[in-house]
Amino acid sequence: MSTTIVWFRQDLRLLDNPSLRAAEALGLPVIPIYLWAPKEEGSWPMGGASRWWLHHSLSALSESLKGIGLSLIIRAGNSVQELTAIIKASKAKHLVFSRRYEPEGMLQERAVESQMTTLGIDCQSFNSSLLFDPREVMSGKGTPFKVFTPFWKACLKSRLIELPTIAKPLLKPALRSPSSLKIEQLDLLPRIHWADGIGKAWVPGETGAQTSLQVFAKSVLDEYSETRNLPSLEGTSRLSPHLHFGEISPRQIWEVTAENPMTLSAQSRTGMATYPKEIGWREFAYHLMFHFPFTTNKPLRTEFSKFPWKTRKSALLAWERGSTGFPIVDAGMRQLWEMGWMHNRVRMIVASFLVKHLLISWQQGAKWFWDTLVDADLASNTLGWQWVAGCGADAAPYFRIFNPVLQGEKFDPDGRYVRRWIPELTKMPKRWVHRPWEASPADQKSCGLSRKSPYVSPIVDLREGRDAALQAYQSMKERR
Ligand SMILES: Cc1cc2nc3c(=O)[nH]c(=O)nc-3n(C[C@H](O)[C@H](O)[C@H](O)COP(=O)(O)OP(=O)(O)OC[C@H]3O[C@@H](n4cnc5c(N)ncnc54)[C@H](O)[C@@H]3O)c2cc1C
Repeated sequence: MSTTIVWFRQDLRLLDNPSLRAAEALGLPVIPIYLWAPKEEGSWPMGGASRWWLHHSLSALSESLKGIGLSLIIRAGNSVQELTAIIKASKAKHLVFSRRYEPEGMLQERAVESQMTTLGIDCQSFNSSLLFDPREVMSGKGTPFKVFTPFWKACLKSRLIELPTIAKPLLKPALRSPSSLKIEQLDLLPRIHWADGIGKAWVPGETGAQTSLQVFAKSVLDEYSETRNLPSLEGTSRLSPHLHFGEISPRQIWEVTAENPMTLSAQSRTGMATYPKEIGWREFAYHLMFHFPFTTNKPLRTEFSKFPWKTRKSALLAWERGSTGFPIVDAGMRQLWEMGWMHNRVRMIVASFLVKHLLISWQQGAKWFWDTLVDADLASNTLGWQWVAGCGADAAPYFRIFNPVLQGEKFDPDGRYVRRWIPELTKMPKRWVHRPWEASPADQKSCGLSRKSPYVSPIVDLREGRDAALQAYQSMKERR
């Protein structure tokens, strides 16, 4: 009897998964597979924190599939070759999968689709990760959008967002399963124990995603517009890694956060309230990456390719390690290292500090984030970094430079966030906690800070750093 192959990619869930729905509709026995093909990831091979997540997410998916009578087949290598081998061995006639929108992911699926045509296999692909496929919404002139608000308005005007499917798919297993690797054989976990903090902070997988959504909707959503900028609170949904790996669909989030008339105002239901709009920013990031694929490595605003970035190895290292001497920057970088995630406001502050006060290129920052974030996502990371560096779409102008002291005092006024991540500053009085180098020698001593501590001598003078950044920007403009 013929079979259907379900190729899992970044859609590691059972609910609201169009590929599984399609397999159900075909009514044939199913072989679910995951292919590990790191050589096909191009210049952005999966980073360490994401690999940790993937390991656990695959374990969770494998358990969920067992619960509906299916066994996840794991293979590693070249996707065309592995899929061809499985299809030939199982005499499959159908392949279903979710689309990816990263340049390399699209190349991969084009190669697979072309091979399926050669083999005479019915091949169907679906958008399971976005509310709007990037091809779907274009400006009145037929060009891609470069500004968020008109983009998002056009999306919401174009059609209603479908409700997610709520039932688990009814699928039957194939009589004979192809051979499978064990998840451990993919060697995704780190060999040294740097991921312990990540393990304590997260529950990868579909159940973890649903729990996070329910908790957020029940206790945080109503206050989101006030709490989302305060890094000491759990004031955001923390759904980003679940969304990245497709453990939850944006439609499932939309249904709970934008469509629930019991909990939200009319504004929320139209998608223009704060939280649903954030989901819109993710859609915008994908729209940009799809239409301007070069931006994953190069600035959208091409004049920035002449920006005089500096190579400053020790400053970069201090930034990565959270020892620049600027408490809000260091707290963010240490949070990132410890839990594989950083609050959005702090991402903006640390990124601005790197590209402006230190004049280190956004690509270097993006690489570090890529390796250390559990939600590392090529579209959102590119948008975030280019936005801060002023070289992307709808970006903050380069000459608007965040002062990390003032940002800290504004968004972490009592210093709770900074003290949580920087034990050296636990005893620092509130007045100095964002500018400890100005504290009295007695206060510095009570925190055990020596004269060599970055909190007494930070790595850069803020005013000098700012002036140098503005000069660099000016020199770029003169070179055009
Ligand atoms: C320099 C920089 C790099 C970033 N890199 C990434 C990245 O690699 N992966 C990633 O998912 N996000 C990235 N972001 C965006 C944002 O910081 C995170 O999505 C957010 O902090 C995730 O936490 P949350 O789920 O609690 O967000 P919430 O505030 O609860 O938002 C809900 C969801 O909306 C989406 N979202 C929110 N803000 C943005 C945004 N600015 N851009 C795109 N999507 C957004 C995310 O999917 C998020 O999960 C980056 C931002 C900056 C400034």
